This record gives sequence, structure tokens and C-alpha cells, in this order.
Amino acid sequence: MDAPTERTRVKRLNKRARYDEETVHGILDAMPICTVGYVFGGAPYATPTLQWREGGHVYWHGSSASRMLEACEEAQVCLTVSIIDGFVMARSAFNHSCNYRSVMVFGTARKVSDPAEKEARLRAFTEGLWPGRWDMLRQMTAQELKATTVLSLSLDEASAKVRSGPPGDDEEDYALPVWAGVIPVRQQVLSPVDDPRLMPGLTPPEHIRRFKIG
Ligand SMILES: Cc1cc2nc3c(=O)[nH]c(=O)nc-3n(C[C@H](O)[C@H](O)[C@H](O)COP(=O)(O)OP(=O)(O)OC[C@H]3O[C@@H](n4cnc5c(N)ncnc54)[C@H](O)[C@@H]3O)c2cc1C
Repeated sequence: MDAPTERTRVKRLNKRARYDEETVHGILDAMPICTVGYVFGGAPYATPTLQWREGGHVYWHGSSASRMLEACEEAQVCLTVSIIDGFVMARSAFNHSCNYRSVMVFGTARKVSDPAEKEARLRAFTEGLWPGRWDMLRQMTAQELKATTVLSLSLDEASAKVRSGPPGDDEEDYALPVWAGVIPVRQQVLSPVDDPRLMPGLTPPEHIRRFKIG
């Protein structure tokens, strides 16, 4: 992955480009929401869904009846993840920007067909977000497993783009009496809310209390 391909070479503002595994993996691991881009019936779609990473692959899942998953299987896709870290307020409208971390992955999506492997991937998805939860849950039935499709995409062809820091204004604009700086943005996890049908006496376990993203 470390070297860009023709497709992943960042052209616009390429000083923000990163191709190293640590950066790409770090962004994917920090944000479970992705957008999967694919073509269906000759038209482009960009579907938001959840993703998780294991080693050099990213995975996503859903109902076996999902059109998105069916259209992506064995097809060329582009999966993106983005995290906004701040609004960058400059002294001119033109120089406003965002602080962000984002990843784009290209490749052919493959279906995880073997039921045992599929279950292992789903377990890793759950455990990655909430360590210790899978073993607390009722086991997945064969029917539930069959009703779920898991797709994988190699991270061999991926790029990251990262912006951080203050605005970059035109030199003469620094003399203007306009407030400039960064409005930091963070996605915040709030206190868990009990299900109204929760069995009495149960409190959120550690993996719920410690959950965070971003
Ligand atoms: C939260 C957020 C807000 C943004 N707001 C704007 C905006 O308002 N206007 C704007 O023009 N751009 C914005 N960007 C940047 C945008 O994602 C593109 O990088 C930019 O528009 C250049 O697109 P391009 O097709 O010319 O890139 P090119 O440099 O031609 O793209 C070539 C290759 O570089 C890689 N690449 C490009 N962009 C990214 C990326 N963001 N992450 C990972 N790899 C990438 C891909 O592999 C791509 O195939 C924003 C990004 C984020 C994450």
C-alpha cells in the first residue's frame, strides 16, 4: 500500500496525502461509518454503511437481500471514510477549509462465502467496537448467518488525506480585523440509555461504558 497507484495518487493538495499503513488503518479504525460507491444499472450510487478492518482488508455487511451488497459483489467499488476534526475559519471565504482525516479504497469487493469465516468476521466486527460483547450474546442462528452477507475489500490500493492546523491565509489578509482560527469538531458518545424492556437490575457493561469513536 505504501506507494500510490495511478488511481490513488493525490493530485490536488498532495502535501496532505498519506499512503502508509499506520495512517490508513488508523482512520478506518477510528470511524466505523463509510460510504461505498458502486455502479448499478449504469448509474452511480454512494451508500453509507458500517465498516470494520481486519489486517489488510476492510469489511462491510448487511441483509443478503441488499441491492448494494449484491451490486458490489465481484464488482469494482470505491469505499471512503471521513472524519471531520474542525472547521477552519480564514480571513477570506476562499481560504476557509476543514481539518479532516479521510481514506479512499479502490478494488474488487469479494463475498465471504464460508459460513465459519463469515461468522468469524462478524464476531470481529462486534468485538472491535465492543470488546467482550459477542460472548455475552445469544449465538447467531444458521438462518441469521444465511440472511447476512459480508463483503471484503483489500487495502492494497488505498490513499489517505489529512489536513490539520490553522488557516492558510494570503499574506496580506493577516492584517485584516477578521477572527480566524479553528472550530474543533468531535463526534461525542453520550451516556447509554436503557431499553425500556431491560431486565431489572442490569447495568451497562464496561464495553458499553468505555465505547468511543473518532
Ligand atoms: C470532511 C472533508 C471535507 C472536504 N471538503 C472539501 C470541499 O469543500 N471542497 C473540495 O474541493 N474538497 C473537499 N475535501 C477534499 C476532497 O475529498 C478531495 O480531496 C478534493 O475535492 C480533491 O478531489 P480530486 O478528485 O480533485 O482529487 P485528486 O487529487 O485528483 O484525487 C486523486 C486520488 O487522490 C486520492 N484522494 C483524493 N481525495 C482524497 C481524500 N479526501 N481522502 C483520501 N484520498 C483522497 C484518491 O485516491 C483519488 O483517487 C474535503 C474532504 C473531507 C474529508
